[in-house]
Amino acid sequence: MTRVLLAEDDASISEPLARALRREGYEVEVREDGPTALDAGMQGGVDLVVLDLGLPGMDGLEVCRRMRDGGPVPVIMLTARGDEDDRILGLEVGADDYVTKPFSPRELVLRVESVLRRSRPAGTGHRLAAAGLAVEPEARRATKKGAELALTLREFDLLAFFLRNPGRAYSREDLMREVWGWDFGDLSTVTVHVRRLRGKVEDDPARPRLIQTVWGVGYRFEPDEAVS
Ligand code: CA
Repeated sequence: MTRVLLAEDDASISEPLARALRREGYEVEVREDGPTALDAGMQGGVDLVVLDLGLPGMDGLEVCRRMRDGGPVPVIMLTARGDEDDRILGLEVGADDYVTKPFSPRELVLRVESVLRRSRPAGTGHRLAAAGLAVEPEARRATKKGAELALTLREFDLLAFFLRNPGRAYSREDLMREVWGWDFGDLSTVTVHVRRLRGKVEDDPARPRLIQTVWGVGYRFEPDEAVS
């Protein structure tokens, strides 16, 4: 059974949400403050965390950051409407996705399904490698010069996409569609993930050579120029 940890202090949100998830067959545990949510998340056996940003005791960002240190469990952040800073911060600390309040339980269930689908081995897809980077889609493992990279789900998907499509320029809209599967959305999501991915794969993230910015267009993965 798939276990979802739901960290939300507002019962008017968590109760209908827990009901909707249970109806879909998920096992749901609810926690109402940051420290107990973190404890539950770190105990293992949790397949996905739905994390409210504004939690008493310890905010969602800190909970997410600490959970990330413990392992790669997927996190969906619940953020307040229109607060772009919160959304970007959430992605910066490693959330895989976010949903903006108010949202319907159905909307969140769909998002949970989509994130879980991505977190599971695809069952297809062969090893991709270039410029000292390698991605094994089935194992969901990525390495740089043999050393394992700690990537979130979307960072992994983004790197795999770049490795599959070297030397071509993609706009942020293209990447959002191809990697996220979204036809519309906040393009800063892409910007943040590219920045985070550069921080992990570039020798010098301040002067990226692998994931290059194409001015006025977007980004291009250039494995050949990066070989030094
Ligand atoms: Ca709250």
